[in-house]
Amino acid sequence: MAYDTNNIFAKILRGEIPCIKLFEDEHTLAFMDIMPQAEGHALVIPKEPATTLFELSDAAAAACMATVRRIGNAQKKGLGAEGIVLMQLNGAAAGQTVPHFHIHVIPGSIADLRKPHAMVMADTDQLKAVAERIIGAI
Ligand code: 5GP
Repeated sequence: MAYDTNNIFAKILRGEIPCIKLFEDEHTLAFMDIMPQAEGHALVIPKEPATTLFELSDAAAAACMATVRRIGNAQKKGLGAEGIVLMQLNGAAAGQTVPHFHIHVIPGSIADLRKPHAMVMADTDQLKAVAERIIGAI
């Protein structure tokens, strides 16, 4: 399937809609998920346009994993998370709702993920407060 340049993460990358940014480098962007499944739920995306892992270049995949490691370490340090859950959905059939490759980086345990996926909008001020704790530990 062709990459949809109007997907929400493409718009975030172009600066057309805001996000609560945690980290950015030449190849990746990390920001808070607005419908978190646990406190501190972050997303890491490549700047390269790719819908799923299967269209992503090896270089972009490697850049994403480096940023995932950076964010996960900051969640451990800044939020006191003992565990970090990674989730990555490929295709609508897998439940992917935004067609730009992304890795969910979620502090805690799989057993804590009781909130439904991409359903409940969080309070922006609360998200920003948690983001500050993560950013302070990067
Ligand atoms: P997927 O279902 O594709 O694996 O995950 C997409 C994620 O993006 C969901 O966890 C959802 O909460 C999040 N999301 C959807 N729209 C927005 C948005 O406009 N901004 C941010 N920051 N996250 C979003």
